Amino acid sequence: MKLICIGRNYTEHIKELENERPVDPVVFLKPDTSILLKKQPFFIPDFSDDVHHEVEILVKINKVGKHIAKKFAHKYYDQIGLGIDFTARDLQAQLKAKGLPWEKAKAFDGAAVIGEWLPKSDFENVNNINFSLFKNETKVQDGNTSLMLWKIDEIIEYVSKYFTLKIGDIIFTGTPSGVGKVLANDKLKGYIEDKQLFSITVK
Ligand code: ZN
Repeated sequence: MKLICIGRNYTEHIKELENERPVDPVVFLKPDTSILLKKQPFFIPDFSDDVHHEVEILVKINKVGKHIAKKFAHKYYDQIGLGIDFTARDLQAQLKAKGLPWEKAKAFDGAAVIGEWLPKSDFENVNNINFSLFKNETKVQDGNTSLMLWKIDEIIEYVSKYFTLKIGDIIFTGTPSGVGKVLANDKLKGYIEDKQLFSITVK
């Protein structure tokens, strides 16, 4: 399985990193080895002094597809989740400056947190889902999927032009503003509406 991630999908987050608004979605992959194992702490890797949390809505693919049209995209997923795209921001900045790929900053072991899943049928409209991240009981990020530049079905249409989507693949749909550094002993809790979907400790 693969993790397909979308970057720069929320205007406020583009502004906070002083990035340009993309013409097309920014797409990158994480390998399955980047998934943080259940109930394990997240260990800050020794190659970074500035690992950031990015809370994101996740979509789990349940049908094989390629060149999926937007109007059929809703048939390719029936679960919605929440996760963190951990990013070594210092390393990413160096790579970006040189025009190099981001994988070392985004795809390292443990860099993908995947919380519990909710049936899509729980939601009246997947383009109006509230989600948030709390760090040590303080809300640090919140977003609503209506603010995505590319909505879930548009993301599926776009990425399936390039990659065959397979059962179990997971799409990270991008982070809203409020990204920030994590420190040892931080506790991160993620919510969709008022349901807690993950709780992890940083070491
Ligand atoms: Zn991200």
